Amino acid sequence: MKDAFGRTIDYLRLSLTERCNLHCVYCMPSAGGCSSTRAVCTLEELVELAAACVALGVKKIRLTGGEPLLRGDILALVERLSTLHKDGLEELCMTTNGKLLAEYAAPLQAAGLDRLNISLDTLREDRFRSLNQGGVLSRVLDGIAAAEAAGFARLSLNTVLMKGFNDDEIPELAMLAHGKPWTVRFIELMPIGPAAAMREAYLPATRVLELVPELQLMQDAHAGVARLYTAPGWVGAVGLISPMSCDFCGQCSRIRITADGRLKLCLHAAEEIPLRGLHGAALQQAIQAAVQRKPARHQLAEFQPSQSIRPMNEIGG
Ligand code: SAM
Ligand code: SF4
Repeated sequence: MKDAFGRTIDYLRLSLTERCNLHCVYCMPSAGGCSSTRAVCTLEELVELAAACVALGVKKIRLTGGEPLLRGDILALVERLSTLHKDGLEELCMTTNGKLLAEYAAPLQAAGLDRLNISLDTLREDRFRSLNQGGVLSRVLDGIAAAEAAGFARLSLNTVLMKGFNDDEIPELAMLAHGKPWTVRFIELMPIGPAAAMREAYLPATRVLELVPELQLMQDAHAGVARLYTAPGWVGAVGLISPMSCDFCGQCSRIRITADGRLKLCLHAAEEIPLRGLHGAALQQAIQAAVQRKPARHQLAEFQPSQSIRPMNEIGG
């Protein structure tokens, strides 16, 4: 699919649930959990939405949330979605907080998942606990080990940069890519949901280059929205994702579908297009028509709050 600005739209982020089993302070509105009473899509609805997008040219699907592993039917869903490879899907990926990965990594691999991104904002137990109001870091580290053992070799680890919280850990986190074929992706904090009130924690991704000066831009430096760096002798890479300080909207290839089946054309725009209840040609036409209205860019510069009417756990990042 092409949008009105000639961008190729071939990447779908599909949210499976708004619920989460960690409550990161920058993402979930409160420690009390997700208060939404919205009914999320069934497995059949998700498969139909994904299949329609693949028929329209989507080549990569990322399963997200909330925490995607909280869905009881996650393995059946991955199995069904992986059959879309025969229709042109190239990559079926998932972003997870890793809390349940120790038990799910091998079954996910068997069900046909191609790639995993795991969130890892700190390597310190006490910080991890305070960040997400009670989580246990060692479970996530066990999950990462299980993912590696299950055959997810090219893991991506996502770190949201927060000044005064984890900036002193940047070199240590980056070094995870030294001896493994992993990509450690540092993401600038975006002013959406609770993070809109955390302006003082914002840190430009370029700080990583000051703290790890041996990093050099790679030849093939772009992997989606990340700029990739590596250093002599390193097996893996460091990715910088700069939604705030660097405008990558011109290359945006994404659409998003929320867990309750609403199409979002831009993470930070208010507009949502309800897709539930549409089927076959009507569903495809609705997606195609909506893509023509994808905005040219977001308005986040200067830490203006996102215009999204939902926090991140309801969209999926
Ligand atoms: N629960 C899963 C996880 O944490 O990986 C998937 C959903 S989570 C919303 C997806 C990604 O969005 C995570 O890597 C998370 O760190 C990131 N994220 C959430 N809020 C953010 C914010 N305000 N700015 C930047 N990244 C954010
Ligand atoms: Fe949950 Fe992921 Fe949001 Fe953290 S970032 S609260 S793990 S959805």
